[in-house]
Amino acid sequence: MPTTVNAYAATAADQPLERTTIERRDVGPLDVRIDIKFAGICHSDIHTARGEWGPVPYPLVVGHEIAGVVAEVGSEVTKFAVGDRVGVGCMVNSCGECVQCEQGQEQYCLRGNTGTYASTDRDGSVTQGGYAQQVVVTEGFVVRIPDSLDLDVAAPLLCAGITTYSPLRHWNAGPGMKVAVVGMGGLGHMGVKIAHAMGADVTVLSQSLKKQEDGLRLGARRYFATSDPDTFEQLAGEFDLIVNTVSAEIDPNAYLSLLAVDGTMVMVGAPPQPLPVQAFSLIPARRSFAGSTIGSIAETQEMLDFCAEHGFGAEIEVISADQVNEAWERVLASDVRYRFVIDTATLA
Ligand code: NAP
Ligand code: ZN
Repeated sequence: MPTTVNAYAATAADQPLERTTIERRDVGPLDVRIDIKFAGICHSDIHTARGEWGPVPYPLVVGHEIAGVVAEVGSEVTKFAVGDRVGVGCMVNSCGECVQCEQGQEQYCLRGNTGTYASTDRDGSVTQGGYAQQVVVTEGFVVRIPDSLDLDVAAPLLCAGITTYSPLRHWNAGPGMKVAVVGMGGLGHMGVKIAHAMGADVTVLSQSLKKQEDGLRLGARRYFATSDPDTFEQLAGEFDLIVNTVSAEIDPNAYLSLLAVDGTMVMVGAPPQPLPVQAFSLIPARRSFAGSTIGSIAETQEMLDFCAEHGFGAEIEVISADQVNEAWERVLASDVRYRFVIDTATLA
């Protein structure tokens, strides 16, 4: 018998989220049932629920920054026991057979990973995400939250943390490297913390200087407003790596001009609009324009352990479930400091 749990769901692209119930499948041999304690609000939840990336099935429960406690394990589960503190991020399965899965890069599964929400699950149903009381996930897609991290500040690490950690690792952020983080939101503020902890020289490029004090406190050495045209002149050719977290339409050429020779700008922000790149933004300095999605399960565990070792989680504002629509509006207005986290006890 499936279990009925309380949740908040989108019912249409242009409607507020509504309180509802959803069914969670029975725990199979390799499944873990998780009592969700906190669920972070990612801008991707909004893009998806509002159909900005393409049509989605409704009703849809979003949320892919899940932190909770194991409530039940299947008969063949070996990694987890009841009571363990665990997390689930943006994917809940992959084919397990392609070359990417074999290399432990499930996020790049050639058949497409199964997203935590709005994806087709193994049984043909649509996956439903973390704005809910419970979730059932196969153990291979569950990670352990280190004891020293509180569950509320750990939740955003499952997407915002890993999505910035993975490209920073891939492009070797570390001492001697000048890294710019564009956008001081959920992903951006984690990018600043992580890049700083890796030893890089970090600069924030934000629309304004409103969040400058926070940016410097979280580990940036410099902070500039992109609304000031002098910024682009002053920083021309400056950075080895730019992690661009902006969720809206931008001119990529302006940011590419800030890269040094052989520098890379990696898009983790996923605006729905096309980003028109001029060849001459790249050619004269052998620059690269790249993209990156979340990280693997092993890398997500590595990131959680890294954050625990360095003693930080996300900067959060905890809300009750009935404040979720208001929180979404604040995310859209770049008025989030720096991640909303739903206390799912308020769903009871
Ligand atoms: P967020 O908290 O809303 O942060 C986005 C930031 O972008 C804002 O805080 C703002 O920073 C900046 N921004 C917003 N509108 C802008 C505009 N018109 N021009 C310039 N800058 C603007 O969102 P998030 O949750 O961090 O997500 C950011 C993006 O990453 C979203 O598109 C999301 O879907 C995507 N994402 C991708 C992955 C992946 O795997 N690649 C994973 C998660 C999320 P300032 O106020 O500092 O300017
Ligand atoms: Zn996300």
